[in-house]
Amino acid sequence: MFIKPCRGLLMSLFDKSRKNPVTGVVQPHWGIDYGNHADNTIVASASGTVRIAVNSTTGFGKYIIITHINGWETVYAHLASINVKVGQKVSQGQLIGVKGTTGNSTGIHLHFEISRGQWSNSYKYHVDPALYIDDPDVRHLQQSLNKLGYSLTVDGIYGAETTKAVLDYQKKNGLTDDGVAGPLTVAAIEKSIAAIITATTNNQNNENGVRYLNLADWQKKETAEVYKFAREKGIFSSAEHEKNVLEGKMTVDQAIFLMTVIAGAALNDGNRIQ
Ligand SMILES: [Zn+2]
Repeated sequence: MFIKPCRGLLMSLFDKSRKNPVTGVVQPHWGIDYGNHADNTIVASASGTVRIAVNSTTGFGKYIIITHINGWETVYAHLASINVKVGQKVSQGQLIGVKGTTGNSTGIHLHFEISRGQWSNSYKYHVDPALYIDDPDVRHLQQSLNKLGYSLTVDGIYGAETTKAVLDYQKKNGLTDDGVAGPLTVAAIEKSIAAIITATTNNQNNENGVRYLNLADWQKKETAEVYKFAREKGIFSSAEHEKNVLEGKMTVDQAIFLMTVIAGAALNDGNRIQ
């Protein structure tokens, strides 16, 4: 029912028992935060009617609450600007505002909440939004972690299993173990995958003398064949992602990373030559 309301990595998770690191006082985080991104537009996560659109300088800052079917509500806080009015009907995916850092906020992000009833500050209806959103970035993360030996279901849901895998990876790699796959953790994971590819390329024979397919071999393959493999393995996060790749609308870094992931999948799959 709900879609990701903006671009950007998950920077902070839903946590009913989150403690203020300084005071130790429990300050629950009743939503999730999406970080800054080149595209900071925000869309309605589901169709509904705008119940609240407020220009505040405290708390949520500029924020919107939309009421959906069965009385569920979504909250979009700390916006730079609001594009909708109270009472306005919005459809899923419709532009409603732009990410910002208004109110009680220290940097550009979207604070997003889902309430399975009318939003109230008793928080009795609040649910973890990450469990309701199929996030393309989370799919990429799950695929990448699987290349490193984890066995996650690639569903785009940032749930207990994914959090556990991220925590495990962070602990083993000397990163802050907060279970959040922010830019540092994501970069480290990509580096780990690249290291595996390099090691495999430099030492291609396993104990049985079987040479495994490596990145260079993949790059020599026909482009279409690689894309076909990627499609079969679910490496494309969406039809749009696939289309962008096929049309060459990728940065060099994105293309290299995609190749790395494809090669990693091939290795995991035990695809062999010779
Ligand atoms: Zn937040």
